[in-house]
Parts: sequence; C-alpha cells; structure tokens
Amino acid sequence: YAAKTQGKDAYAMFEPSMRQGFDREVMWRAELQQALQHSALHVVFQPIVTLAGRRVAGVEALARWNHPHLGVVPPDVFIPVAERAGLIGDLGLLVLRRACAEFASWPGSQTAYLSVNVSPSQMLDASFPSKVAATLYEAGLRPGQLVLEVTENALADESEVIGALRRLREFGIRIAIDDFGTGYASLRYLHRFPADIVKVDRTYVQDIARDPAAVHILGTLWQLFGAIGLTAVAEGIEDQAQAAMLMDLGCRVGQGFLYGRPGPLSAITTEPATADQS
Ligand code: C2E
Ligand code: MG
Ligand code: MG
Ligand code: MG
Repeated sequence: YAAKTQGKDAYAMFEPSMRQGFDREVMWRAELQQALQHSALHVVFQPIVTLAGRRVAGVEALARWNHPHLGVVPPDVFIPVAERAGLIGDLGLLVLRRACAEFASWPGSQTAYLSVNVSPSQMLDASFPSKVAATLYEAGLRPGQLVLEVTENALADESEVIGALRRLREFGIRIAIDDFGTGYASLRYLHRFPADIVKVDRTYVQDIARDPAAVHILGTLWQLFGAIGLTAVAEGIEDQAQAAMLMDLGCRVGQGFLYGRPGPLSAITTEPATADQS
C-alpha cells in the first residue's frame, strides 16, 4: 500500500520534468522550423588575420538566430537542436547561401577567404558536395575562395565524411579541422585527414600565459603541422601577450576578440590596421 503511494508520488514527480524536457525540445524544433521557413537566421563574420601584420586572411561565418521573444540564441544551443530534429541540412545550406552571397559582394573577397562551419551529419548527405558547388556557382565564387570547417570528431571514424571531404577538395575547396585538440582524433591519423588547415582550440591559447608546458606543446604542434603540410590557425586570441607568445612559437595566423568580434561583414576592412603603419 505504501509502495503504491510511493510509486505514484515518484511518477508524479518524475513525469512533469520529463514532459517539460520533451515539450521544450518540441518547442525548439517547431520554432527552428519556422525560423528556417522565414529565413530568420543570419550570419555574422569574424576576421582571421596574420598575427604580424594584421592583414585579413579570411573571415569565418557564424550563424545567429534572432528569436522574436528570446533574443539572439547562440549556435551552441540551436545547432544541436537542428541536428536532433533532422534540420541541420536545411539550416547548413541556408547559412552557406547567406554567407556566400554576402561574401561575394564584399570588397575583401578578392584577397581573403570565406570559412563556413559544417556539421558532420550534413556530409552524410551524398549530394552535399554538389550542393556546395551549386551554391558557389550561384554566388559567383570560385572553390578556392571557400574553406569548410569540420571538428576533428567528425573525422575520427566516419568514412562517409572522409569521402565527402575528398570530393570537396578535388573540386578545389579547402578543409579546416576545427577546435583541434579537444576531441578524439589521434595524432597517428592526422596526416591522413583530407585537410589543409588546422584550427587549434582556444583552450590551448588560454593556457600559454600561465602554463609553461602548454608553450612546449603548442611549439611542438606547430612544427608537426608544418611538417605534414597543414596551415595552423590559433583560435581565441584575446590579448597582445598571447599573440606575442604565439608569434614566438612560429604561429602566423589567428583569430580572436583581440582582432575583432563576430559582427557584420561590412565592419571588416582589408586595409592594414593603422597601428601597423606607425
Ligand atoms: P567555432 O567554429 O569554433 O567558432 C568560434 C567560436 O568562438 C565562436 O562562437 C566565436 O564567437 C568564439 N570566439 C571567437 N574568438 C573568441 C575569443 O577570443 N574568445 C572567446 N571566448 N571566444 C571567441 P559562436 O559564434 O558562439 O559559435 C560557437 C560554435 O557554434 C562554433 O564554434 C561552431 O562550432 C558552431 N557554429 C556556428 N555557426 C555554425 C554553422 O553555421 N554551422 C554549424 N554546423 N556550426 C556552427
Ligand atoms: Mg569554426
Ligand atoms: Mg573553433
Ligand atoms: Mg567551437
């Protein structure tokens, strides 16, 4: 009798939270679907620069969702929802199309590249490479102007993903391994990944000011990347001390709040910063 009551209570306590979680997921999905239908997503851009001269080498497109009530929802929240809801293919293409169109009418597109994040599940669609090619063509961009960023976990064991990356590279698009050093990729396989650029995660950059071992690790990583033909980019550079240490270690290209926060593409100029001219 007591057990039955307990069971009932346990059910009564368990059920609402479950339903809340489920409702929340359903709500997110429905709202994201609406956002896609109304193209309520936009793209902001962050410069990728040469550390010595602060020349803009590229711009990374970052998706933003402006929700009517919640404000700007960060991609770390809505990208996983889109993946679970099977919407990431549509979302990814919308972002790519937007980013390419804006980039094509930006003066810097003659000298800088466009870098766009893609989820591994997007590349499981066999027609992904041809969709990318069509999007470039519509925007009037050359394959050499585009870099696609994938996280190292995507490369760990997905042979379909590797196949898609090979096709994209044969077409002339460059591939960047994003957030390097945070996932499960083994160094043993690094040279086999079909990639051109490696973006070292900002956690490594944050460590170099306070951890001497991190300096050795980064210095060695840079030598390794050079030896296997990968161009290295340091992510999350926030102050001049980090930039100076990275330059000492042989790092030439980076990205971070020190050089510019994500924002409208029109705010990024390809002229050298005035500080460099003095
Ligand atoms: P990510 O590709 O590694 O992008 C870099 C993230 O670090 C961005 O966050 C950027 O605003 C932030 N960041 C840049 N510089 C600094 C810095 O100096 N300090 C700190 N603390 N952070 C910095 P954001 O825009 O919130 O994007 C988060 C992640 O969401 C991205 O990480 C990417 O994995 C994913 N994402 C964004 N847009 C897309 C997209 O269109 N498609 C897919 N699949 N993923 C996307
Ligand atoms: Mg990225
Ligand atoms: Mg990253
Ligand atoms: Mg990231």
